Amino acid sequence: MLNSTDRDGALPGTNLTQTKALNRRAVFDAVRRNGPITRTELAQKIGLTVQAISNIASELSMAGLIRQQGKRVGQRGQPAVELSLDATGGYTIGLSLAYRRISAVLVDLAGKVIASEAHDLAERDPHLTAEALGLLANRLLQIASVRRDKIWGIGCSVPGTVENGTFWYDKVQEADEWTRFPLVEKLEELTGLRAFAENDATVAAIGESLYGVGRVARSFFYLHFNLGIGGGLIIDGHPYRGAFGGAGEIGHMIVKPGGRHCACGSRGCLEQYVSLYAAAETICGPTRTPDEVPTEELIACSRAGDGRLLAWQQEAAQYVRIAIRNIEAMFDPDTIVIGGGLPAELMDGLIAAATPLLPTMTHRHSSRQPRLMRAEHAAELPALGAAALPIAIAMLPVSSSASWRTTTTSAPMMTNPALAALGFDSLWQ
Ligand SMILES: [Zn+2]
Repeated sequence: MLNSTDRDGALPGTNLTQTKALNRRAVFDAVRRNGPITRTELAQKIGLTVQAISNIASELSMAGLIRQQGKRVGQRGQPAVELSLDATGGYTIGLSLAYRRISAVLVDLAGKVIASEAHDLAERDPHLTAEALGLLANRLLQIASVRRDKIWGIGCSVPGTVENGTFWYDKVQEADEWTRFPLVEKLEELTGLRAFAENDATVAAIGESLYGVGRVARSFFYLHFNLGIGGGLIIDGHPYRGAFGGAGEIGHMIVKPGGRHCACGSRGCLEQYVSLYAAAETICGPTRTPDEVPTEELIACSRAGDGRLLAWQQEAAQYVRIAIRNIEAMFDPDTIVIGGGLPAELMDGLIAAATPLLPTMTHRHSSRQPRLMRAEHAAELPALGAAALPIAIAMLPVSSSASWRTTTTSAPMMTNPALAALGFDSLWQ
């Protein structure tokens, strides 16, 4: 499989098969986002002829991915058939690995949760953790009574950096055991399903792109507040992971030259001032592991108007303002989405303290969206974003999909007839 370095900078070519697959993806994705929609409206939206749309719609309908039904009432002339997503045409499983907790959801193509489950993790061994995740995925399949060949794949959200299906934690003590652990390969062996893993901030952005803010914003930056702070980037409806999977790592943007030391080796990184760690540090001194971040105590301090926490908020807010202005200058997104696991009280206080934002560039004044939007999906369901991952990857243009495909597992993979019939599955082979 080619990746960006193999191509050595060359523009990727395309062939007729790929072009057909691309058109099917475009129609499917437009119906998924905008349905119910008529063929004429679709043709205008994606630049294909009505005849081409009709042909593809028939194929998608035969594969059980869209429905052609319903007549509009109250309009003159020939009533138009409307196309809409058949949410039962496929399913995905989302897994979330967080500090000492794993959760999972099985959702249909519309993102409706069919089954979910979560467990605390007593073990931190990577092999046992992978087994627990695989077990959880298999359990959801049983509970939901969904056939394996209807599953598009498994997405897994991890709190670290992902490269070629392996990942490592960025900051916790167990980091060494996890260094380049082949999580994706393990999950595929355990489930027989195609799996993908990605950094939790990028996964949260993908979830919002498919099931939340993405309905009104094609390009946005997701500011993901957790123990640390990360970011995910959606450009023209597609996630962007960068050359090495680290795009959007805003926690390591330097906001204070010569400031506090950061584990990355720099000084003055955003995460040193704006994160749950940083908030906790103001209350109880330097913290070492996520177990020691006293979330309940922070919430109590916030409610009591604790002066130390208010001082943190004021300092953090000025760096949030700088970060937002810099993101706008760099990416010019429709909006910036703010979400993650920061307790609601702290998040509300931080946003209030950061308002008004720094003045933006004049060309952005015509934007239809506010500069800052709250994520629609809360941190309680990080696995939902993970469930969106296989769909988002299936919808990528062929040229940019290679970096998301990670392993060539030797385990036999379940093939999905709908994906295969429609050429969606170049990444699944
Ligand atoms: Zn740093």
